[in-house]
Amino acid sequence: MSRPAPNDPRRSRLMAQVRQKDTAAERRVALILRGLGIFYRKNVRSLPGSPDLANKHKRWAIFVQGCFWHHHRGCRRATVPKTNQAFWVEKFGVNRRRDAHAVRALRRDGYRVAFVWECELDRPEALAKRLSEILETRCIDVC
Ligand SMILES: [Zn+2]
Repeated sequence: MSRPAPNDPRRSRLMAQVRQKDTAAERRVALILRGLGIFYRKNVRSLPGSPDLANKHKRWAIFVQGCFWHHHRGCRRATVPKTNQAFWVEKFGVNRRRDAHAVRALRRDGYRVAFVWECELDRPEALAKRLSEILETRCIDVC
């Protein structure tokens, strides 16, 4: 994804896509869950932060995060554009605080919460293993 300068008219459109729904990454994670036999709903707006994938009955929620937009710590994709750095640092901070707020609210309600980072999709088998460990239960009753 290109990263236009703040005065670029494309920027506001890109900003609107930060929480864009049904991205390719989300679809890939959904496929992994299906492969594990794990039942989910997409874009659950009734839960804090509108998790990308969630199961209220099993009480878990997954956020599929773009490494750039959500500033994945230690990830090579989490760069800060050279132009207008203050703007970007602030933007990443807002995104991260919003994420943290949603996670706290969900955990208070007894949810297991997982972040799936875009870069993890480079190793789908490892991701599938991690998700199956986090989500634990195989779907047997609600699928
Ligand atoms: Zn990453």
